[in-house]
Amino acid sequence: MRRFTKKPKREPKKELRRFVRKPRPCPFCQVDDGGVDYKDERVLRRYISERGKILPRRATHLCAKHQRQVSKAIKRAQHIALIPFSAEIYH
Ligand SMILES: [Zn+2]
Repeated sequence: MRRFTKKPKREPKKELRRFVRKPRPCPFCQVDDGGVDYKDERVLRRYISERGKILPRRATHLCAKHQRQVSKAIKRAQHIALIPFSAEIYH
């Protein structure tokens, strides 16, 4: 039994960054037009999947602030039936 023996200190792991991706700037931060408009269906369509789901940040490349605004705007647009809650894919 190993009691009262100090564990050997482990060397800190070297950072392995295999996929270095350039940060893409948030398109809403580029233009200062007072946030996201929920009536702008054409803009919101870019941030939903073809099944009607809201895309995650890793797919939209938005900043946290604008991702929040977009998801809220999409939900408002869905409520007034500008964009669908879900869409069926026909094959
Ligand atoms: Zn932004």
